[in-house]
Order: sequence, then structure tokens, then C-alpha cells
Amino acid sequence: MTSTVMNMTTSASVPTEPEGAIRGGTVTDRLVDANERYAAAFADPGMDARPVLHVAVVACMDARLDLHAALGLELGDCHTIRNAGGVVTDDVIRSLTISQRALGTRSVVLIHHTGCGLESLTEDFRHELEDEVGQRPSWAVEAFRDVDQDVRQSMQRVRTSPFLLHTDDVRGFVFDVKTGLLREIDVAA
Ligand SMILES: [Zn+2]
Repeated sequence: MTSTVMNMTTSASVPTEPEGAIRGGTVTDRLVDANERYAAAFADPGMDARPVLHVAVVACMDARLDLHAALGLELGDCHTIRNAGGVVTDDVIRSLTISQRALGTRSVVLIHHTGCGLESLTEDFRHELEDEVGQRPSWAVEAFRDVDQDVRQSMQRVRTSPFLLHTDDVRGFVFDVKTGLLREIDVAA
């Protein structure tokens, strides 16, 4: 998550003006235009769906984290599973289970990062949401204070999942958004 989340409100009254409007269209129009150029130069690599490196990467959705560039990954190399915080939720376990059991991955890499938006939130976010919309979300915010501890918890959730075939090669890292460098987290610390 970007630092802009710190200004985020639980209010649904976000501006209705197309904030993402780009000259001549919305941001989505811009993406569709870019896709036409991409497809024009695209050659079918002839791959199947099984990741070449047999690895799944679980990471925060933060816009400053370019996983393929940061990890030297090529098209077809890995599964990437991303959400706010890179949290190992039930749905991430669902994706990892399919990744391992149906598509042959064996290694799991977890990447959280410095300056994550979840560090500035608390579980109060859920209560504020409930006050505003009259319904408490079923999901936890999974806010955290200590990014290293958050990575350790994520590694534990993967390693103890009964659904996964391979839990021996699970490693966790913190990506520094200022330097681009990964720092490995020792699960036992
Ligand atoms: Zn983040």
C-alpha cells in the first residue's frame, strides 16, 4: 500500500469526479490503449500455466514494489499473489494450495516492505467501518506495528497450513522502498 492510504477515510464519499482522468479519457482507457500496443508486439511464448521456477511470491500490493524487476523474474517464472500488506489470509492459502497442488510450485517467498500503509492503521478501522455502514466486515484489517514480526507470522501461517504440499522452503523478506534491497527475516528470531 502506498503512503496515500494514510489519508484514506472509511467514508464512501470519495470524489465522484474522474480523478484518474487522463487527457482524452479515464485511466482505464489509458491502460486499454497501452494494451493494444503491447499486443501488437506480443509473440506467444508457448508456455503452459506451470511457473518455470516453481515458486509463488506473496507480496504487498504496494505500487512501489515491482516484483519482476526487483527479483529478476521473467514472464512465466512465478505466481504472484498480492494483497494489502502481503498478509497470509485464507484466500492467500487458497491460491498457494492451487499453486502447489495443481500447478507445481514448491517454494514460497513472502515480501513485506518498509513504509507499509498497514502500519498506520489499527483494528479501529473495522469499527469505524461498522459505525459508518452498519455492518462489520468479516475480514481482519491485519494492521501491524513491527514489520519483521509480521513477516514471521506470515511465514508461520504458510508453514503450518495443512493444505500445502511443500512448506520446507518458505522464506520471508522486507523490501526497502528507499534502496530497493531485500532484507531476509529469520523465522526463529
Ligand atoms: Zn504495503
